[in-house]
Amino acid sequence: MFKAIVINKDEASGKGYRAELTELDDAQLPEGDVTVSVHYSGLNYKDGLAITGKGPVVRRFPMVPGIDIVGKVQQTDHPNYQVGDSVILNGWGVGETHWGGLAQVARLKGDWLIPLPKGMAARDAAAIGTAGYTAMLCVMALQKHGVKPADGEIVVTGAAGGVGSVAVALLAKLGYEVVAVTGRATEADYLKSLGATAIMDRKELSEPGKPLAKERWAGAVDVVGSHTLANICASTRYRGVVTACGLAGGMDLPATVAPFILRGVTLMGIDSVMCPRQERLTAWQRLASELELSKLHAMVEEISLGQAIDMAGKLLQGQVRGRVVVDVNR
Ligand code: NAP
Repeated sequence: MFKAIVINKDEASGKGYRAELTELDDAQLPEGDVTVSVHYSGLNYKDGLAITGKGPVVRRFPMVPGIDIVGKVQQTDHPNYQVGDSVILNGWGVGETHWGGLAQVARLKGDWLIPLPKGMAARDAAAIGTAGYTAMLCVMALQKHGVKPADGEIVVTGAAGGVGSVAVALLAKLGYEVVAVTGRATEADYLKSLGATAIMDRKELSEPGKPLAKERWAGAVDVVGSHTLANICASTRYRGVVTACGLAGGMDLPATVAPFILRGVTLMGIDSVMCPRQERLTAWQRLASELELSKLHAMVEEISLGQAIDMAGKLLQGQVRGRVVVDVNR
């Protein structure tokens, strides 16, 4: 038997379904060629949507949520893994269509796993999680498209959240000038400690704007979408690059083509879920060497499995700073 958070359909609850901490039998585990003893998971925005039922994340019931897993191989039929190997999993539909990491045991496809980078602590990998790995994918996309520190300011939205916090720390470490956009003025000192050079109130970007505005950003990491993303594109410099990875402010994109056809702006979509293995390995290797541990530790709050349901609601209300690590054995 092992402990897990399980989401079941429950029309009577008024929300359509209900998440609870419960015990499961190993015989109930889904198919897979590797069984992992989970040490840590985390809470990402998507986990918040899944646990609260506020977004259509869960595709099958009952579902164990948790898109991140860090643990040790307990049993394996996969040629690349041996019992005792430390592994990471992010995405691949885990926590959506396949049972995920908010449990003490997970059975998975070995092809989805990557080894824990040498020298990285399991808890730090969970602290980075999908949010941090996505932030690195955004940084890699900016660099791939030639954005250099000397080109000018990089704007990061949702800066006090998970993706935002890691993006600020990574970009600052690489020498970029980072403008952190937040709705929480109280987090200004925190964002500066991560390396932000300036703080902007999210209201400055969230209202409908013009098709083109004064050129400012050399690059962007946007987790908000909607008017915020449209306004960022409109104020991106000639040939600048905007990476879009989130929808915390809305899924719509009320923009015009003006920034793309008149300023050669690139809008780059970032997806962590189905991202090819080689790019994941590169992202995690780079996180191991380029993310300062003191900054990572300053972003993290650790909770127990039992606290994850309450925390999911707080995360969606924008009340969580940085990253939440879940110690599933606590
Ligand atoms: P998070 O920790 O909850 O951070 C989201 C942040 O966005 C909040 O902390 C808040 O930052 C800001 N925010 C919240 N509501 C907002 C609103 N209505 N308008 C403007 N800003 C708002 O979540 P996360 O895990 O970092 O994920 C952020 C987004 O990226 C989510 O939409 C998530 O689904 C997406 N994501 C996508 C991928 C991918 O593969 N594409 C991977 C990971 C995450 P401030 O308080 O600082 O304003």
